[in-house]
Amino acid sequence: MSAAYRQLLDATIAHLEHLDAQGVRSVPVLPATLAALTKRSAPAASVPARAIAPVSSPASPRPVAPAPTPGAERRLVSPRSAEPESFAAAFEGDAADFAARPAVVPIPTVNPLADKPLPPRLDPASKVLAFAALQQRVLACQQCSHLVAARHSVVFGVGDPDARILFIGEAPGADEDLAGEPFVGRAGELLTKIIGAMGLGRESVYIANILKCRPDMPGGAPGNRKPRPDEMATCNPWLHEQIDLIQPEVLVALGSTAVEGLLGGTVGITRLRGKWQSYRGIPLMPTYHPAYLLRNQVISEKRKVWEDMLEVMEKIGLPISARQRGYFLNP
Ligand code: SF4
Repeated sequence: MSAAYRQLLDATIAHLEHLDAQGVRSVPVLPATLAALTKRSAPAASVPARAIAPVSSPASPRPVAPAPTPGAERRLVSPRSAEPESFAAAFEGDAADFAARPAVVPIPTVNPLADKPLPPRLDPASKVLAFAALQQRVLACQQCSHLVAARHSVVFGVGDPDARILFIGEAPGADEDLAGEPFVGRAGELLTKIIGAMGLGRESVYIANILKCRPDMPGGAPGNRKPRPDEMATCNPWLHEQIDLIQPEVLVALGSTAVEGLLGGTVGITRLRGKWQSYRGIPLMPTYHPAYLLRNQVISEKRKVWEDMLEVMEKIGLPISARQRGYFLNP
C-alpha cells in the first residue's frame, strides 16, 4: 500500500469517525466510487506476511507482567470476584481474525498542555481539599456561554481521586447531562462491564471527559455532536488540573476525540488504538469508545478493545488470569 493511499485511507477513516461522532449513521456512496474502492483494495491480499502482526491466542500468550509490587493492589482490589464476570458474556458473536495492528503511529502534538510535567504529589489531606475546591470551581464554570445555556449539569467526573487508571471520554451525552455523571447510558454500562472484566470496580478507577458540558445541538435537536477544538481547548485546563491531582499511572483515551483533546491531533483511532502514547509523561492507551462497540457487535472489535485493556493491566502489574487472556478468542 503506497504512502499516498495510506494517507487517503486515514483521512477517510478520520472523516467517517467524525461523522459517526456526530450521529451520522450512513453516507451516500456513488456506485462508481464503490467500484473504484473495491478495485483499489484488491491488492491488499498480497501484503507481505511480515507486515501482519501475529494474532494473540492462548497458544502464544503475551509476556506475563511482573508480580505487582507490595501495595500495588491498593485501590484496585475490587470487592467483586477476583475472576470477574465475563465481559465476553455480555455479547454474542463468533471468533474472527483481527486486523493487524499498524506500526508505531506518530501523531502531531499541538496541545500546549500535553508536555507540561506533573507537579509534586500532594499529601492526602491537602489533596482532598484541593480536589473538592477544584470540583466547586468546575461546577461553577461559565466560560462557554452557549454550553452553559443548554446544559443541565456540569459533568465533573466520577471515581476514586487516587485511582491508578483514568478513563477519558469525549463529552457528556444527554444521559450524562441529566445525571451529572460521565458514562451512565448504554455506553457507560459497557464501560463498567469492561472495567469489571479487568477485575476492578467502577469506583476504583476515575472516569472523566475532555469536555465537562454537553455540546449543544442546533435548536435543541436530539443527538450528540463532537466537541469543537475551541471548546476542548477552553475546557482542557480543568482536566489538566484533575490529572495534576489524581496522577494516575495510566490514561485510557476512549475514542479519537479523547485522543485529540489530550494530544491536540489525531490520525484516526483505527490506526492509533493499541499503540501507547504519552501525555505529560503518563502512558496513554488509545482505544475505541464503548459506543463504537455497541454499534459494531463484531467479536474481533471487542477483542481489540480487550487486548488494549490487557496492555493496560500489564502496564500497572495487575494479575491476569488465563480466562481473562482468552476473552473473545474462544467462541
Ligand atoms: S465546557 Fe468546560 S470550560 Fe466550557 S463551560 Fe463547561 S466546564 Fe466550563
